[in-house]
Amino acid sequence: MMKSSLFKGKNVCIVGLGKSGVASSVALVAEGARVFLTEKRPRREVSEWLSRLPKNVTVETGGHRFLQRDWDMVILSPGVPRVLAASFERKGTPVWGEMELGYRILTRKNRWPERVAGVTGTNGKTTTTALLGHIFKTAGAPTVVAGNIGAPLCGLLSRIRRDTALVLEISSYQLETVDDFRVDVGIVMNVTPDHLGRHKTMRGYAEAKGRLFRHQDARSGAVLNYEDRWCRWIGKNHPRPLWFSSRRSLRNGFYFSGERIVSSWGGSRKTWPRPPYLPGLHNVENTLAAVACARFLGVPAPSIGKAIRSFRGVEHRLEDVRTLGGVRYINDSKATNVDSTLVALKSMTRPVHLILGGEDKGFPYTPLRPWLKKRAVQVFLIGDASRKIGRDLKGSVPIIPCETLERAVHRAREQARPGEVVLLSPACASFDQFKNFEHRGHRFKELVNAL
Ligand code: ADP
Repeated sequence: MMKSSLFKGKNVCIVGLGKSGVASSVALVAEGARVFLTEKRPRREVSEWLSRLPKNVTVETGGHRFLQRDWDMVILSPGVPRVLAASFERKGTPVWGEMELGYRILTRKNRWPERVAGVTGTNGKTTTTALLGHIFKTAGAPTVVAGNIGAPLCGLLSRIRRDTALVLEISSYQLETVDDFRVDVGIVMNVTPDHLGRHKTMRGYAEAKGRLFRHQDARSGAVLNYEDRWCRWIGKNHPRPLWFSSRRSLRNGFYFSGERIVSSWGGSRKTWPRPPYLPGLHNVENTLAAVACARFLGVPAPSIGKAIRSFRGVEHRLEDVRTLGGVRYINDSKATNVDSTLVALKSMTRPVHLILGGEDKGFPYTPLRPWLKKRAVQVFLIGDASRKIGRDLKGSVPIIPCETLERAVHRAREQARPGEVVLLSPACASFDQFKNFEHRGHRFKELVNAL
């Protein structure tokens, strides 16, 4: 017999109207809850999202007066700070994120999958998540890829069954609002200083990542980067760490050796070539993590090989746009911090004309200096952070202020010679001139394709 819904007739308040607020609303309405949604921004700024809500959701915009009422449950969107709901937590009212909600709905229906992987970390989440999904699909498993990758779990519930291979990308914000939620394998790619505004200290940030493993047991695994100090710290307390390293051979683990991906784990040794369409050592790390998880969850070696060979990468991550007059144009709009831009520079094998800038995140750009000297011909600056970047990089390579992406693309076109690369890898957020990094990347591709 079907258990009655945990949510039927309950008064639920969703905080935040965006992708995940809409997905939570749809899921809760389907469960028979009475759904209220509160959004800080004024109506005109969220009209696009409003039109996607189910009809019987009561909406408040321009403030959070709804939060003064009594609720049976509060659902927070990932962008919303948890303190907003502190009074509810004190009263013992459940305060969940969208992922916890999806977990509760599916476990209640006995449909939470037997194979669930959760991918988190500062950089490499989306690529690893997408590759792992591709591995499961190539192996013929019914697969759902969801989460921070742009497809909220609650929007995909009807496609998930016990035998689904579920691959979730989970941001550290989303980890703040999980409770009973559990994964069979948790992957932490790396933990570097990003998002510190919200988490205050590195330790707090690493602890948030560690929440991924709270409900794991002796049968579950933690895939961790042996070269990352915070991963080591997380791994100290885990019963089954699976280590990966792009830099050294491991006795029992996953590593890169002689240009091959090596799995030397569980008493057997397998190797595969590195992924042909993914440049750079960072993508070797992403591959190692995905392979470790796939091996742990029993995917056969030949399927893994087939998937590695055919994976084309993810849009806006070192994406090859076009070669024109012998010059390659690469879109790495997703590089919204200095670390990501460093990673991009390191993976380039030809001289680079680099487009940098956007909205500053408060970190210095000076770490770029040595790699600019090694890899870059010059830098084109765009956006609000231009002056600060100019100051931080002065004297490394020639710097050309351009203000707009359009001007930067045209200047780069004039200057780049055959055999060189024009790379958009901005090291900044995009919100000063664009809706988001996707918008920036699409605009770059439009401009390049129009050359
Ligand atoms: P995320 O989803 O965590 O932001 P992505 O896979 O979208 O990660 O990659 C975003 C950017 O981060 C890439 O463009 C690349 O510059 C950098 N990156 C990707 N993988 C790694 C990694 N394993 N280590 C460090 N940086 C990485």
